[in-house]
Amino acid sequence: MIHLPITALDLLRARILARTAARLLAHFSSCVDLGEVTVTREDDQDVHHRVFCDRLLANGARCALPTEHSRPCGGRWPRQPYGHSHDTR
Ligand SMILES: [Zn+2]
Repeated sequence: MIHLPITALDLLRARILARTAARLLAHFSSCVDLGEVTVTREDDQDVHHRVFCDRLLANGARCALPTEHSRPCGGRWPRQPYGHSHDTR
């Protein structure tokens, strides 16, 4: 597991930064499990907040939208190297 501490001004900015970094890293490695990416408050490290919705969709894929999205679940994970995709899990 890779833990990469990055600080942000608040939880919203932390989620945005984490999503951006995770999507970028996913382009380089299929080992990035986007659905498990979380952020924590510095003074409350035991409570993890997901950054992607990750809800199971009817087609078996996972929702790739931000956790706070207001439109219906959907979206796709970024294309994975070598043709691998999180859409099949
Ligand atoms: Zn969703």
